[in-house]
Amino acid sequence: MSDTFNAIVATEVDGKTKGQLQQLSLADLPDEDVLIDVSYSSLNFKDGLAVSGKGKICKRLPMVCGIDLAGTVVESSSDKFKAGDAVLVNGYALGEKHWGGYSQKQRVNSNFLVKVPDAFTLQDTMAIGTAGYTAMLSVLMLERQGVKPSDGEVLVTGAAGGVGSVAISLLSKLGYTVVASTGRPETHDYLTALGASSFIDRAELSGKGAPLAAERWAGVVDTVGSYTLANAIAQTKRDGCVAACGLAGGIDLPSSVFPFILRGVVLAGIDSVMAPMELRLKAWSRLASDLPKEKINAISRVEPMSNLPELAEQIVGGKVRGRVIIDVNA
Ligand code: NDP
Repeated sequence: MSDTFNAIVATEVDGKTKGQLQQLSLADLPDEDVLIDVSYSSLNFKDGLAVSGKGKICKRLPMVCGIDLAGTVVESSSDKFKAGDAVLVNGYALGEKHWGGYSQKQRVNSNFLVKVPDAFTLQDTMAIGTAGYTAMLSVLMLERQGVKPSDGEVLVTGAAGGVGSVAISLLSKLGYTVVASTGRPETHDYLTALGASSFIDRAELSGKGAPLAAERWAGVVDTVGSYTLANAIAQTKRDGCVAACGLAGGIDLPSSVFPFILRGVVLAGIDSVMAPMELRLKAWSRLASDLPKEKINAISRVEPMSNLPELAEQIVGGKVRGRVIIDVNA
């Protein structure tokens, strides 16, 4: 076996952060308690920002990018994991503060690891990836706030992206009527197959709207932020819940207090990065029961790690449909 292996490492190039393919050795890896043979990582919006250098994601350099990974334990000094265990990691600042998943090998803190549910292969878990796990956290939030399928339509924004595709698949399996907001009409057939029952052009939500609008949504999963989030809140029904998980359209929130104080609307934030382990395990267990295998296949495709610089530009430009699995060994 060769002593070196491939990784996408962010460094400073001409004053800008960029992720590029490099060779690493085991001696380069951080001093953590579990060594993993990584099989797959995935492409998330944050990875696009990190690898392209379009967002300040890496808190230190050099940084191995990749906010998630799935692989097999090779060595462990933690009694929670042993060689041969199939494990995954989402978030915990992987690819930001801790070296991440775009590497054929990685050492990771055992407190970050989740055992791969029996229902899934390693590849399945990264077809879902951090985007899909965040979609599950959003659905769990709507449930926790009491949003039921009989309450009416649920809006999913950024529908054709990673979080959106998994959210639609989950919500439709759970019996909700899902309205998909997308800027790409060419994805309507794909989104219908995932379970969307109707569509809103994203332009209808992305401009400045009234602080309070006609009540339509029982619940919302918003991946876009800015005016889209503000309009979704303004259109949410009495006691409905808006799960805000993304910023693909902007980080601002030009809203008013009216929906909260006149309709009891709940705005619930979703943080996948530091979600407690108990919630992660619940999310992965629910993904195993509620995300149909054929939908996992329909939303995902596999790409080699060497394509990441190009894929990073595509996802930041809103051009990726569904989920991209990164085969770190291809
Ligand atoms: P994707 O790029 O796969 O999906 C984002 C989608 O948003 C696009 O496909 C597009 O959907 C839409 N979109 C893109 N640009 C714009 C724009 N300028 N205005 C309006 N809509 C736009 O990303 P992910 O699904 O991986 O992530 C979605 C968001 O969720 C990101 O902001 C990401 O950072 C965030 N996120 C947050 C997490 C958390 O812990 N809170 C965890 C994971 C992701 P369409 O073409 O259908 O219109």
